[in-house]
Amino acid sequence: MELDYNSLLLALGVSASCLAVTLGGSWFSRRPETFLLSCSAGLVPIVVGIFTYGAYVDKPRPILAILTFVLFFIGFSIIWAAGYQFRTRRFSKTRALLGSLTGIAASVPAMLAGYDGLAFMGDNIVVAVLLLLTAREYWLSRHEALTPLYGIAALYTLTAISFALCAGVLIWDGKLVLGHAPDNWAEDVSLAICIAGMTGIGALSLALHQWRQAAHHRQQAITDPLTGLLNRRALFDLYGHRSFGPSMAVIVFDIDRFKSVNDQYGHATGDIVLKLFAKELSAGLRASDKVARLGGEEFALVLDNALSGRAEQIAERVRDAFAAREIIADGKSFACTVSAGVALGTAEGIGFDSVLSTADKALYAAKRNGRNRVEVAVYLHAVSPDVSRTAS
Ligand code: GH3
Ligand code: MG
Ligand code: MG
Repeated sequence: MELDYNSLLLALGVSASCLAVTLGGSWFSRRPETFLLSCSAGLVPIVVGIFTYGAYVDKPRPILAILTFVLFFIGFSIIWAAGYQFRTRRFSKTRALLGSLTGIAASVPAMLAGYDGLAFMGDNIVVAVLLLLTAREYWLSRHEALTPLYGIAALYTLTAISFALCAGVLIWDGKLVLGHAPDNWAEDVSLAICIAGMTGIGALSLALHQWRQAAHHRQQAITDPLTGLLNRRALFDLYGHRSFGPSMAVIVFDIDRFKSVNDQYGHATGDIVLKLFAKELSAGLRASDKVARLGGEEFALVLDNALSGRAEQIAERVRDAFAAREIIADGKSFACTVSAGVALGTAEGIGFDSVLSTADKALYAAKRNGRNRVEVAVYLHAVSPDVSRTAS
């Protein structure tokens, strides 16, 4: 089978430009600084390089080959740096520069010296290495979204193999001087793989971008932006359907006289106090314990294992630590206190919203009884929980 090399080259150039536009456009319609923009930027020199190479195939003037090499190395190095950016969220100028310079050193001097065969060997080897390094970046990110990342890593590897094959055939033939563009079966195969690989990589890159966006939004929907804790919705998502046995507990906290903190020191200082309390609340907990900001200055702690009075102990510890904390804002120093209500699950099991409202009742008892204290709700009957006083 004879493939029409120039038509395939044209197809590659056109699809690479379309891909550059698509990736750039989808970056533009979402948010700044993503790997998509870098991929798109890397494709631009590659597209120009493909057309320059087309011109070289027609008229093998060394300057055209040199231009092709330089454009390819810059493009593939940026694509490698984009892979690194996908993994680490930082664009690596060092990688972009290192890749470009290595490639240029491996091909341009040989071309200038008239050894075009040698130059193409160097060119193919460096491009193969750059593609493998790119594959490695996506492979290292695979935990994020297995299927698309396996796919991308595989396609970059396959493309790398096709360039290695081109280098291999040139080395096998052993001609250091060709006088024209390399023309063998490996070149045809490689071109076909490039077209297929690029289309696949483009589609998967877009999918990855969407996937990451969606994950980001999911995370935002369950996070309180001020404190970074879970929000009320997240807590109901986690526990709304669960039955609370006697080893599970909910503690509700409400900062005392918080309105006067805002009034005296300003809203910004109030926010600082909320963040400080969130930190205090999160300290020293087990992985199974969940902390959330229910809204305003109300927080909740859900304990999976609250046996032997652990819930009350934790509530006391938080209350004590927070009261002892000196808060400094605008050169003024002050202290804040917090009240807490504790409610445990029951032997027969009880829904999360019931435990939460029982803990709320205990919290109001703590407020009534003077604030800066912990009250534990006691179930007199399974259905009508009451609140008993405990020492604070
Ligand atoms: P109590 O001891 O009875 O709990 O008194 P309190 O003043 O803390 O109670 P109240 O619930 O009346 O006041 C809560 C205040 O919290 C009112 C509101 O302005 C403030 N607040 C709610 N959300 C925020 C926030 O995100 N930041 C700041 N700085 N203040 C907030
Ligand atoms: Mg309050
Ligand atoms: Mg309140």
